[in-house]
Amino acid sequence: MEKYDVKFKKKLGQNFLKNTSVVDRIVNQADIDSNSLVIEVGPGGAIMTRELAKKAKNVLAYEIDNDLADEIHKRLEGYDNVVVLFQDFLLSDISKDIAKFDYDKLFFISNVPYYITTPILMKLINSGLSFNKIVMMVQKEVGDRFSTKCGSRDYGSITVLLNYFYDVRREFVVSRNNFVPVPNVDSVVVTFTEKNNKKTVKNFSYFDKLVRDSFKYKRKTIKNNLKNYDLNIVSQVLSKYGYDLSVRAEMLDVDVFVDLANALGK
Ligand code: SAM
Repeated sequence: MEKYDVKFKKKLGQNFLKNTSVVDRIVNQADIDSNSLVIEVGPGGAIMTRELAKKAKNVLAYEIDNDLADEIHKRLEGYDNVVVLFQDFLLSDISKDIAKFDYDKLFFISNVPYYITTPILMKLINSGLSFNKIVMMVQKEVGDRFSTKCGSRDYGSITVLLNYFYDVRREFVVSRNNFVPVPNVDSVVVTFTEKNNKKTVKNFSYFDKLVRDSFKYKRKTIKNNLKNYDLNIVSQVLSKYGYDLSVRAEMLDVDVFVDLANALGK
């Protein structure tokens, strides 16, 4: 069990892992080797950064809280393959930052600050970078939403958007008792692997808007949520999949939304 000599800041999502066997399990989700670069957001007390440094060629970590510098440097003593940038990850230019590194495989592995889970994922998607794997520990309810299948109550626009890019897998649950201080939620480790043969959209921002509009009012049908779109075209596409305009968005998988966006044609 790891001990930290820091004042935890709740508003920065500072719940640190204290159980090293959980850290090992997370790190082992990716086949990191000596030619890999790993990006980590929020090293905290650097318990996981240290394990990443043992396996990877380089680790690039972003930590917003300067007050953690001593704790981080203490735990990373002797590891000269780690660069820690003390800055807000959401404001960083990842492509520029990683240009300095030479690597064959790129991973993103992080026990993320939960208050910015979705913005972090959106930033990774918008970076256009190709990751061999993304491994994230997130709040359990959020991880369930990311990895659920269509037809379930948790299925929403974020599920569709993430499943457009990635095969999303819910790997294992981590009890709140593995953290210090103990948070009031449990966590789950989720992995994201890029889809190779995905149906592609002509225009991602149009697809993004269509998906969000389709889920705008959860209880409403596609006919109601998409009333500002060409419903003849919507109906034609849905009928290919055996649905009509009375269907709800939660029943439609990502391929249906891709076809809808391409047929509506922006
Ligand atoms: N990786 C550590 C662990 O597993 O024990 C700490 C994880 S803790 C859940 C999240 C960390 O993210 C904290 O160290 C926090 O200061 C940092 N953080 C919060 N917002 C951030 C941001 N916008 N950019 C970079 N780091 C951030």
